[in-house]
Amino acid sequence: MESQRCPLLEVKKNIELKTPLVKGPSQLPLSRSRLKRGPNQMEDALEPAKKRTRGVGAATKINTSRSRVPPLTTVPQTQGHTAVQKVPKKTAPRCSTAITAVLKNQKPVPAVPAQKPGPTAVPPIAGVKKPSKRPAWDLKGQLCDLNAELKRCREKSQTLDQENQQLREQLKEAQQQAKDLGTERSTLEGELARVRTQAEQGQQQLGNLSAHVLELEERLGTQEGLVQVLQKEQLELQEERRGLTTRLEEQERRLQASEAALSSSQAKVASLQQEATTQAALLAERGDRLHGLEMERRRLHNQLQELKGNIRVFCRVRPVLEGESTPSPGFLLFPPGPGGPTDPPTRLSLARSDDRRATLSGAPAPTTRHDFSFDRVFPPGSRQDEVFEEISMLVQSALDGYPVCIFAYGQTGSGKTFTMEGGPGGDPQLEGLIPRALRHLFSVAQELNGQGWTYSFVASYVEIYNETVRDLLATGTRKGPGGECEIRRAGPGSEELTITNARYVPVSCEKEVETLLHLARQNRAVARTAQNERSSRSHSVFQLQISGEHAARGLQCIAPLNLVDLAGSERLDPGLALGPGERDRLRETQAINSSLSTLGLVIMALSNKESYVPYRNSKLTYLLQNSLGGSAKMLMFVNISPLEENVSESLNSLRFASKVNQCVIGTAQANKK
Ligand code: ADP
Ligand code: MG
Repeated sequence: MESQRCPLLEVKKNIELKTPLVKGPSQLPLSRSRLKRGPNQMEDALEPAKKRTRGVGAATKINTSRSRVPPLTTVPQTQGHTAVQKVPKKTAPRCSTAITAVLKNQKPVPAVPAQKPGPTAVPPIAGVKKPSKRPAWDLKGQLCDLNAELKRCREKSQTLDQENQQLREQLKEAQQQAKDLGTERSTLEGELARVRTQAEQGQQQLGNLSAHVLELEERLGTQEGLVQVLQKEQLELQEERRGLTTRLEEQERRLQASEAALSSSQAKVASLQQEATTQAALLAERGDRLHGLEMERRRLHNQLQELKGNIRVFCRVRPVLEGESTPSPGFLLFPPGPGGPTDPPTRLSLARSDDRRATLSGAPAPTTRHDFSFDRVFPPGSRQDEVFEEISMLVQSALDGYPVCIFAYGQTGSGKTFTMEGGPGGDPQLEGLIPRALRHLFSVAQELNGQGWTYSFVASYVEIYNETVRDLLATGTRKGPGGECEIRRAGPGSEELTITNARYVPVSCEKEVETLLHLARQNRAVARTAQNERSSRSHSVFQLQISGEHAARGLQCIAPLNLVDLAGSERLDPGLALGPGERDRLRETQAINSSLSTLGLVIMALSNKESYVPYRNSKLTYLLQNSLGGSAKMLMFVNISPLEENVSESLNSLRFASKVNQCVIGTAQANKK
């Protein structure tokens, strides 16, 4: 601010300094106010007397410029000009009067215009005594006077010339002075203009500075507002900081507590780690023992199965269904076992009336009882889970690496499919052996997983009808007549069999198995015709390839589990007339009977340890050959109808089953590698 004000101060100073400069050199009695006037005014100022003496005469005018000219003391006082003497300081009038007098007799001065003689005549020259009037005759005297007068006039003229010369010089000098003053004036005017410009600039700067000051004041106001806001914020932040400090202290306290807890926990962890190491060693030892026990369990389990028999036959009698006639009491009996009624039944007695003997004798038909004994007999009220419980040990054998075959044998409608797959409507209580066996397998495999065993399961489901194999899991274009399959060896020299054109589906949960069974049911339904219930005329073979591996001990066990729903075992009535449809039916029946009897023959051959086993005689035995050999375990369900009208077929089935039951296939060997 101070520095910006400087130019203004300079201007002021200059103005103060210039004023004496103007006064100094001019030496004129000019007032300041007159200095400020224009050029004309300056001229007026230079010639003040001119105006004042206007009308007085040229002589008076000239006299004004002679301020420094000394009074004409040389002019003789004899002329007695009293007026001049009375005002000695005012020399100009006196001088001008003298000049005027001289000029009357001489040519006029060019610079001074001639003036009319004033009302006052030129007074006689002071000190010159006027001669007394000579008489007319005194011409000589008069002449002398005139000469004297002339002489005086000449002297006077000379004096006046000198004076004139002086006045001219004075005039020149005055003109020079005026010129100088003019120059000085223009200089001063220039200076004045410069000063004015400076003053204007100063004013402008002042204006700018004022605006700047205003702006700064405005900014100052804003800044002050900002400062207030910041101060408020600072207060809030201080408050917040206080809160945070409190929290921090709290956190630090907690941290200290946590650190203390951590160090104690670390100590605990160290001790636990030590314990864990001990436990791990113990666990490893126990694992070894467990494995040993597992292997022992498998061996004992197998021994038990062998003791029970590698071929077992269970008889299951289905209940009387709605709309069926209740059989006469005593038609089917289930005598208790040796252990009394608490023992599971193993025997079945069937009464058959001999109608032919009754007709011949005319007496009431005698009844013949047929007693059968099996590994287990399931009366009509037996539940699905009870049935499964009996076979679950066999499923365990399959997991242990022994091939297992479970058949359902019996006439159509005796409950084979019910036993194998389950009842209608998806009721879990009515689930058959296949879903239950698979669920059991998955759960046991899961348990064995903890002992280092990894199991995988691959399912296939085919039907053998009239000695042709068809995939029941076929989808899309492979369905229908074109989807026939062939049984082949997996490779040259390989024992393993595979079905060409059939799907092998890996399964790992019940849901997947359910889906497969549903698909199989659908495929069977497609093949059904009005004349022929094909499902009852074909064998359905559900195969599950079980592969187990104990990687850590380098153990592997592979075994198939076969669940076979055999075709209806009923025979065609020989007394029936054979129409074109019946001929087909006969062919079907012959094929079925052939394959079923082949199955019996194969079992017999195996039991008798014959060198030749007729596996190739039917597709069924050919497909199952690896599951029927010495190392395999077999279970046959013989399904019986509770109805008296089916007694003949029931007896046939029971006889067939009894034959099988008498077979003992050599000691089974687990398929271990
Ligand atoms: P198959 O397959 O031997 O021809 P099914 O299994 O189809 O015979 O059984 C014929 C009928 O008898 C079906 O309606 C089935 O539901 C019923 N059935 C069979 N066994 C039983 C049983 N143990 N309990 C209840 N109903 C059964
Ligand atoms: Mg069936």
